[in-house]
Order: sequence, then C-alpha cells, then structure tokens
Amino acid sequence: MKDQDPKNWRPATQAVRGGTRRSEMQETSEALFLTAGYVYDSAEQAEAAFQGEVEHAIYSRFSNPTVTMFEQRVAMLEGAAFCRAAATGMAAATASLMPCVRAGDRVVGSRALFGSCLYLLTDLLPRYGVETEVIDGTDLAEWERALSKPTQAVLVESPSNPGVQIVDIRRVAELTHAAGGKLVVDNAFATPILQRPLEMGADIIFHSSTKYIDGQGRTMGGCVMTNDEAFFNDELGPFMRNTGPTMSPFNAWVQLKGLEHLELRMARHCDNALALAQFLEGQSRITKVLYPGLPSHPQHALAMDQMSNGGGMLALDLAGGKEAAFRFLNGLKLIDISNNLGDAKSLATHPATTTHQRLSDEERAAVGITGGLVRLSVGLEDVNDLKADLEQALKQA
Ligand SMILES: *Cc1c(COP(=O)(O)O)cnc(C)c1O
Repeated sequence: MKDQDPKNWRPATQAVRGGTRRSEMQETSEALFLTAGYVYDSAEQAEAAFQGEVEHAIYSRFSNPTVTMFEQRVAMLEGAAFCRAAATGMAAATASLMPCVRAGDRVVGSRALFGSCLYLLTDLLPRYGVETEVIDGTDLAEWERALSKPTQAVLVESPSNPGVQIVDIRRVAELTHAAGGKLVVDNAFATPILQRPLEMGADIIFHSSTKYIDGQGRTMGGCVMTNDEAFFNDELGPFMRNTGPTMSPFNAWVQLKGLEHLELRMARHCDNALALAQFLEGQSRITKVLYPGLPSHPQHALAMDQMSNGGGMLALDLAGGKEAAFRFLNGLKLIDISNNLGDAKSLATHPATTTHQRLSDEERAAVGITGGLVRLSVGLEDVNDLKADLEQALKQA
C-alpha cells in the first residue's frame, strides 16, 4: 500500500493525502510552519543553499514547507507537474498572465471574466504596450477571427461569473496554439474535481482558492499550475519570487485541510445546485435559470462534455428587474446576501449592483447581467431548507 505511486491515486485519495510530508515528529495532520526564515548549520551551508547545491529552505517568499504541501496536493488534483501558490486568486491571475507577455504582444480574453481579470486586460496590460481584445467567449467564429493574428496569451473563465457561460476549452486551446500563444484558464468555479483544463490543452490554470478549495470562506488564496517547465522555471518562478505575491503559510495550512474534503463537498454542492435549479425553473416570477447541469442551458452539451458535473453556482433572472431582485434578496431568511462564493453556507448576490457595478450598461448587457439577475452560490445545507427559503422569498419578489 505505502509505496503505491501517488500519481495513480484517485482524486479523493489525492485530495486527502497528496503532498503530505511529515516532519521528524511524525504528526498525522500536516504541520503549520509559521516561519519567515530558516537557520543554517554553517556559513558554508547558507552559501550552498543560495547556490542551489543543497535542499534547504531559504525564505518563505521563495518557499515554505506548508505552502509546498498545499502546492503539491492541488497540483496532483489538476494533473499539473508544477504549481505556485499565491496570496489571493487575483495574485494568481496576475502571475499567470504578466510573465507571458512583453510590450508589443497581443492578449485576447473572453468577455465574461471576473471583474478584476477584466481590469488586467482592459486597464493594466495596455499601459505596458500590450494590445488586448475582449470577445464573446461562447462564439467560436469570434475566437477564429480574434486568433487569426499572432497572440501570445488567451484568458478564459469557464463556467464564468456570474452567468455560468461555458467556453470550449479544447477548441480555444487549438486556436491559441495555432496563434503562437498560451491558453490561461481560470478554473475557480469548476475546481479540479469537476474540470481539468490541462488535459484539454490549456497551458496555465489558476484558481482563487479562497472559494471552493478553502470551502468555508475563511482564508484568501490562489494557485497557478502548469506542465510547461520552461514557463515555470524561467517566468512564473522568478516572477513569484521577486515580486512577492506568495501565499501565507497559515492560509496554505487551512486550505490544505480544505482540500481533504473537496471531492465530498463538490458532490453535495452539485446535487444541491441541480435540485434548486430544477425547482427554480418552474417558478412563475423567474424568466430564466442558468445552470450548466440543466438541459435548458444554452451550452449544456459542451458543459457536460468538459465538466463531470454542473457545479455549485447558478443564476436566476427575476421578471421584475432590480426591484424584484432586491425584494427577493431581502426576503431570504436562511441564505445570506454576500458576494463571496464557494462557501459551505449558501450565498446570494445581485451582480449588477455589487460585483459588476463598475461595468457600463452595455458591458453588463453583453454578458447577460440584467437588473433581475441574482447569483446563487449553493452551499451544503439540507436542500429542503434551501428550497423552502427560496420559495418564501420568491413570494415577495
Ligand atoms: C474570486 C474569484 C477571483 C479572484 O480571487 P480572489 O481570491 O478574490 O483574489 C478570480 N476568478 C474567479 C472566477 C473568482 O470567483
């Protein structure tokens, strides 16, 4: 049993045991190395450590044993050879994208991106002389047109926030490679339990591990993963080490423990979300329910082809617009109003006035964020209690 190759472990086993490295105390639960620095036996050993001749931790901005365990566990689940953990999901997004591009390069992204990722494309990169274009990620003809020019990086999110749009990862990976670029995928909504983009041709994956990987809304974190050794050694590694958006050992420890029940939790998130999506679809005050696991989702077939289940996020559109959405949210008694997601607790938010407030009306319309749209992060409560709460709140909408 003990010498079984961890690469052959199934996901639930990898999530519980991947990356574990015991100290001389032989602890069962992974240790929290809450330390910034490390002591050397001699000046010679310090010199050798800095020259890379001996394996010895140098400084926790470079590496930390608890963070390394987290990186190895999450990388195993994604089928990635390399991983760097980051302080937040946005630190991971920035570290995925910035080292890929130089002044004069071109980057294309799908429009339905997390707000801050959109900022990287529309505001930040152009300042450094990078040409960027944002397109409808669901439209393959748009991808073919945009990627007919040489392009160094492509950024997509699937399923997207908040409209759970799906991008055809395999096809976009082919087009990206033909254009000479790397495909970067934000896999926060699906998690490696439901979707493994590296196996579909993606080059770099990042997560906001603040979400499902923590799973209980406690800590911030992110991670970047790849099988591209040159990118890891020459670009990502030096970028993380020298610009310093590294993950705190404490957060790594919390999230390492979060990973242990990720597979179990995702199954329940998906079961609850599907049951609620089916229930909501029949309600008269709702014009549309968006959930990748529902046959009525415009890209249901593609979603089921690249994901093993529909996920824990859904969106509903209320007929009465913003006023109805506010009455509905204010009427919820169990589900909390919060813009966070991926928590054990069910959370509801109104994207148009919170997470996507800064977008123009046209930009919101382009990704289906109407006044009546409510995003639901379906938690782990008993589904009957959730259904009852939604039912009574809908009567007020
Ligand atoms: C939350 C989130 C991010 C940003 O992550 P932080 O941990 O908040 O920095 C990026 N992408 C998606 C899809 C997210 O949900």
